[in-house]
Amino acid sequence: MKSYIVGNWKLNFAVGEASIYLHKIQKKLPNYRDVAVVIAPSFLALQPLSLQIDRHKMKLAAQNAFYRDYGAYTGEVSFSQLRGLVDYCIIGHSERRYLFHEDDKMIAKKVEAAIRNKITPILCIGETESERAFGETADVIRDQLLGGLSEVSEEDVANVIVAYEPVWAISSAKSAKLASPDDVAEVVKLIRDTIGEVYGKETGENIVVMFGGSVNPSNAGAYLTVPGVNGLLVGSSSLILSEFTDIIDIAKRVRA
Ligand code: PEP
Repeated sequence: MKSYIVGNWKLNFAVGEASIYLHKIQKKLPNYRDVAVVIAPSFLALQPLSLQIDRHKMKLAAQNAFYRDYGAYTGEVSFSQLRGLVDYCIIGHSERRYLFHEDDKMIAKKVEAAIRNKITPILCIGETESERAFGETADVIRDQLLGGLSEVSEEDVANVIVAYEPVWAISSAKSAKLASPDDVAEVVKLIRDTIGEVYGKETGENIVVMFGGSVNPSNAGAYLTVPGVNGLLVGSSSLILSEFTDIIDIAKRVRA
């Protein structure tokens, strides 16, 4: 199975900087057919980068989008406007959930809108530090997973990518900690089992599940070899070109 390495640039890089990064990474990166390399720049950079990107080597993702295709929604960008521009969209990132108050209902509508517009949703789920401390991880994961998929038809669930991102492990968290490979394995198994129970064993086995949380070149190999993990969602480390390409090389070696 293919590996996925997705760089979430968040609110970083002006358009010119994004373009220079893309130029450099494309020069450096061979065409790894078994590693899907994806970058998620700001909305502003998507259009120019879409003209510059070598789609054999890399793909573009949006970091968010709105579920209505058009209408009176000042400041929003719709999936229909992104159609053809991006292949993926990150949906339900913990920063969207906690800073912008997105709930599972809204996230479900976004997942549905992405699929309707031929954009692969990367549905982010993950428990907070206090939820973990109170033993609520499994409930939170099931709720966010099934909640996020609730507007999608059974056949389309197979086209969703799930990213497990424990909020306490994301580098921007106040006291970020590293998730152990065992922590990750346990939750990834829960994700696959839950999908299997609701949408069928085959979908549970085949759905793409990624991990994200302070991934860097020194821990990428350990996370990529966790059973059931197909890829990594990388924040801070994706901003440093040499670190991001090292992670991509590690994914290539793990797959080989
Ligand atoms: C993220 O924000 O999705 C993320 C995983 O960030 P970081 O790699 O910086 O923890």
